Amino acid sequence: MTRLVIEAVPALKDNYVWLAREPGAGVTAVVDPAEPGPVVAALERHGWRLDVILNTHHHGDHVGGNRALKEKYGCKIVGPAADRERIPLIDQAVAEGERVALGDQQAEVFDIPGHTRGHIAYWFAASEALFCGDTIFSLGCGRLFEGDPKTMWHSIGKLRRLPDATRVFCAHEYTQSNARFALTVDPDNPALRARVAEVDRLRAAGQSTVPSLLGVEKAANPFLRADDPVLARNVGLAGADAVAVFGEVRGRKDRF
Ligand code: ZN
Ligand code: FE
Repeated sequence: MTRLVIEAVPALKDNYVWLAREPGAGVTAVVDPAEPGPVVAALERHGWRLDVILNTHHHGDHVGGNRALKEKYGCKIVGPAADRERIPLIDQAVAEGERVALGDQQAEVFDIPGHTRGHIAYWFAASEALFCGDTIFSLGCGRLFEGDPKTMWHSIGKLRRLPDATRVFCAHEYTQSNARFALTVDPDNPALRARVAEVDRLRAAGQSTVPSLLGVEKAANPFLRADDPVLARNVGLAGADAVAVFGEVRGRKDRF
């Protein structure tokens, strides 16, 4: 079993495009190409061709490279079935429970609407890698552009069930500003404080905070902890259900 080799390609202002290479079969995917230039440069540096684009959702900073990369490489484009008409040049529309092969490695697809109506995640179990676009960020979550708190909390619940050792390859370096907010709603959480210290150290050294570990996010990310009574109490909603707490925390973040 050859695990995926995964590399960040920084793009636009704060996007991470992910190159995922299955070295046994020699096939390469790119997740959410924000723009073509840096992706082509990274591929050429390695001497790799591009075989497939995996899109998580339709936003321009995730599909902006589709057209140019397909023209150059003739790669296949995979994206969410629920949003197929908004994914440029999509070839294969996938939904919950379907699998996408990359050489020897397989991704399971989850439907995780909330940020957008047709957002999906790709979970490569054998590589302990989750590509979740703009749904979970380290210490944060995506804005609810096309969904409500109930929808997003349910989507996050699907991802939260994955193993703690899962590496969370989200699409943005938002961690440090997420950390500042998270401390306002969960100030006494030791897991959060430890993660914030690590994030500040990494950023001071000019390093990426992504991927993070799902086990860390489960303990430290307030958007994965809306069913924790401590968090509910901290936002003045003791005894309320998780959806109400999640909605309150998301609303505070929007105004932060
Ligand atoms: Zn987005
Ligand atoms: Fe984005």
